[in-house]
Amino acid sequence: MTISTTEVIVVGGGPAGLSAALVLARYNRHVTLFDKGGGRSGWGQTNRNFLGFPGGIPARTIRVKGREQLAYFDHVQIFDTPIDSIRKEGDMFIAATPDGDWHAGALILCTGTVDRWPQFDGWQTTVGRSMFWCLTCDAYDAIGKEVIVVGSTTEAACMALQMTRFTRKLTLLTNSPDVTISDVVLERLEAFGIPLIVDEIASAEIDDGMIHALITTDGQRLPVDMVFSHQGADPRNEFALALGVDVNELGYIVVDTEQKTNVPGVYAAGDVTYLHSHQISAAVHEGAQAASAANYYLYPPELKDE
Ligand SMILES: Cc1cc2nc3c(=O)[nH]c(=O)nc-3n(C[C@H](O)[C@H](O)[C@H](O)COP(=O)(O)OP(=O)(O)OC[C@H]3O[C@@H](n4cnc5c(N)ncnc54)[C@H](O)[C@@H]3O)c2cc1C
Repeated sequence: MTISTTEVIVVGGGPAGLSAALVLARYNRHVTLFDKGGGRSGWGQTNRNFLGFPGGIPARTIRVKGREQLAYFDHVQIFDTPIDSIRKEGDMFIAATPDGDWHAGALILCTGTVDRWPQFDGWQTTVGRSMFWCLTCDAYDAIGKEVIVVGSTTEAACMALQMTRFTRKLTLLTNSPDVTISDVVLERLEAFGIPLIVDEIASAEIDDGMIHALITTDGQRLPVDMVFSHQGADPRNEFALALGVDVNELGYIVVDTEQKTNVPGVYAAGDVTYLHSHQISAAVHEGAQAASAANYYLYPPELKDE
């Protein structure tokens, strides 16, 4: 078994992990980043609310550009391989990969979340093209369009209500027989004229990633320009749980404003946390902040101002 050593292991090569690696590189730290591909920044969307990119920048391009920026530093290594498990022995974190173990003094978890997208033939081609989850990110592009919000909770219904700022051509489709929308919010849906359809998605009419209609199991054809899914997401928290890192009631890693967890030497950034909204700008900030905190943690006592 190969055993390698680095100063900081970063898990995840989305905006949070790449930002952490960049800031660590400029602290002159040896940093090793592992990424298994995909994640929220791996779909086909263009980010139009990230400062500095008139017309927007595709999320995948941010990743490509981030790697180009990191290639300048000989002390940064990036491996397109998954980390399978992480354990702690003494002061060291040991990450197991298919190619051997990596030892490091600090760890930054940037593993993101997995969205619970509606499942129908071809759904993967539509994410970031005509199917979204984030009002902050994409509702502006829904102005005047035919929108279906998918979800069966009070929160999903509130998203439909907030969508009225952008369009009145709105439908709420539960995609589940189990509806948990509060009575008061049901009344508001009615007052705003938003139809509530309690049914599931059977299939979709899709052309080049663009959904033109959803077909329900009882045969209704619902024309649509943009679908907003509000079915929740699952944070990738398995390493946090294995290391005794606290997570909140939804499973997101609990951090302070320096991205520290309750376990010394372990930091978390981006969508796997719940500190800020799930945005590229927040992921980049949190990654950078985690890098600074990890760098300080690794200083020997004589370099610290305490
Ligand atoms: C359709 C869509 C549209 C969006 N639009 C916008 C927008 O307009 N503006 C905006 O600001 N945000 C937008 N977002 C949100 C934004 O993409 C996320 O906030 C951002 O990607 C979070 O970055 P992250 O690095 O935390 O996680 P991710 O981008 O999800 O990256 C996590 C990475 O960790 C890796 N990983 C996980 N586990 C392991 C492991 N065990 N070993 C190795 N690697 C691992 C994954 O493979 C992945 O590459 C959108 C998201 C989606 C899905």
